[in-house]
Amino acid sequence: MFTRVLVANRGEIAVRVIRTLRRLGIHPVLAASIPDRHSLAARHAGETVVLDGYSSAETYLDQDAVIAAAKHTGCEAIHPGYGFLAENPDFAERCASEGVAFVGPPAEALRRLGSKTAARAIAVDCGVPVVPGYDGPDDDDALAREAERVGFPLVTKARAGGGGRGMRVVRAPGEIAEAVAAARREAAAAFGDGSLFLERYIERARHVEVQVLADTHGNLLHLGERDCSIQRRHQKVIEEAPSPIVDEALRAELTAAALKIAEAVGYVNAGTFEFLVGEPGQDGARPYWFIEANPRLQVEHPVTEEITGLDIVELQLRIAAGEPLPLRQGDVTFSGHAIELRLNAEDPRSDFAPSAGRLRRLDLGSGPAPGTRVRFDAGFEPGDEIPAYYDSLIGKLIAHAPDRSQAIAALVSNMPLTTPLVTNAALLRAVISHQDFAGDAIHIEWLESRLKEVLDRAQPPLVALAAAAACTWAQRDASWIGAGQLAMWLHDGAETHCVHLCSGRAGAMHLAIGEVEMNATAPAFSPAVWVDGQRCHVTAEGEDTLSVDAGGETWRFTIVPPPPLPRHARPTVPGSTAVTAPLSGTVAAVYVAEGDEVEAGQLLLTLEAMKMEHRLVAPASGVIASVTVAPGDQVAQGHPLVELGE
Ligand code: ADP
Repeated sequence: MFTRVLVANRGEIAVRVIRTLRRLGIHPVLAASIPDRHSLAARHAGETVVLDGYSSAETYLDQDAVIAAAKHTGCEAIHPGYGFLAENPDFAERCASEGVAFVGPPAEALRRLGSKTAARAIAVDCGVPVVPGYDGPDDDDALAREAERVGFPLVTKARAGGGGRGMRVVRAPGEIAEAVAAARREAAAAFGDGSLFLERYIERARHVEVQVLADTHGNLLHLGERDCSIQRRHQKVIEEAPSPIVDEALRAELTAAALKIAEAVGYVNAGTFEFLVGEPGQDGARPYWFIEANPRLQVEHPVTEEITGLDIVELQLRIAAGEPLPLRQGDVTFSGHAIELRLNAEDPRSDFAPSAGRLRRLDLGSGPAPGTRVRFDAGFEPGDEIPAYYDSLIGKLIAHAPDRSQAIAALVSNMPLTTPLVTNAALLRAVISHQDFAGDAIHIEWLESRLKEVLDRAQPPLVALAAAAACTWAQRDASWIGAGQLAMWLHDGAETHCVHLCSGRAGAMHLAIGEVEMNATAPAFSPAVWVDGQRCHVTAEGEDTLSVDAGGETWRFTIVPPPPLPRHARPTVPGSTAVTAPLSGTVAAVYVAEGDEVEAGQLLLTLEAMKMEHRLVAPASGVIASVTVAPGDQVAQGHPLVELGE
């Protein structure tokens, strides 16, 4: 086994890999960018090499810098995590020629699986069904012609694809030309390769994937499947194992299909083979199609770890060190059910705009009930800054329980509350509490098609907020009585709500949230609170964190200080309007200069935050009075960018 390993990644996956390295007595060295140099991963690592730069391209994607970091610190192996260099065959080859072990598959397997069309061809050779489509010569005319044959709806896909980029669903022949042009642009920008192919779009499908492990001694086995059907924009949001819709017969077929493809490409290390599973046919059986392979550790690997009791990172390291797998297929056992939620720094109510910034508090829940296990794979701790340069994943909440409904309950009562960051926690909670999720009625379009309804359900009921405030006031000393109007701010992970105490006695209070007034009765030293006749149960979970059971659901809140009054960036030029940064990020490009005349809606500049580009346009017609930033500048939310005069 290795004695020193370089972790060439960041965030939760770097922390996760370091945890196993430490457990195995291996010295972890972290390669970290400048913004990540004091991160949680860096604090856990034994040693950190700073990659001199900020963007992914100048740090985690810089092969020379990563290899130099490994050699300089005497590491025998590099764990690439996921993303960045994890699936890059050139990098795997470079590692081999430099005498450093790459914790992943051989370059040849990465090459064969790296192209989705090549992977489809291998699947076909193995007798595994693929989605009907067109993957012949790629020119716009051929795609337009073949689209008719493939049939509608269809989806364009990038051959070099990843992260859902280059995917456009086309529902009618008239839409194909525009979809192909947009998909090509997106794929070219993301992968430097705009080549496309077409697949029939499978409606109401489930995403089911098989975890495979292979060593260099010819041992190959699977660890069952994961279901990742809760997606947004073709990106996974919630994952679970086992899949609630896969029966023994389908499991046998999917796992056999995955193993066949793995064997055909000489796969080594941990890998995932992804399938779409359709609705049951007349015989009750569900059809399935191979879509792609992910030759690396997946974000969602913990759900498999939880149901198998195995440490996949440890097995990856053993395989990379040349050891035989310590178990055979018959030794793999499955128990219970595990679900993972991806907690992102983003605001679902503002079109999922990233919300980088400092994490001040992180309140995890009441802990697992007997027989359940709750794990939070965190990339950040209170006090850490979530940088705007990379993705928005804060961490992953994983629950394991004897059955699915207990796993859901464990997630709900342990939903992480972050303050003051806005996250998708309330959305996640609303999804797993939805009857469609409980009843296995979800599919890959479900979240997007129900987003509005789910967001409405993500709002805590006023009764729960009132109960939390009333109980807190009742438990505190009574000096507030008669003090006039009081207010309490409660943060639900997504939003801060203000509850006003209009008047009250210790036992009975008159409260208002916005325009709505309520009466609450909260006996001191009792968790039972009545709000307008509805009984709620309030539990203090720690200093300033409460959980409220109301109407059969549980809600968690943190009591927070009053939010600061909004700061309006003051224009320095009298009579001008300041265009300010809607979120923290980096100025990517500036399209105007002082003195330019602009029309309302004209593009002024672009801002990059968390891998997404935001376009800022002129709010009105006018003349540019001043431009206060230049490309490459880091700006905080609210920072003035351009001043627009009349
Ligand atoms: P990427 O590599 O960009 O993540 P995938 O091929 O893995 O792309 O597809 C991502 C997601 O898009 C899948 O999980 C699935 O939800 C959806 N998808 C892919 N192909 C199809 C298809 N032919 N029909 C319907 N949905 C699809």
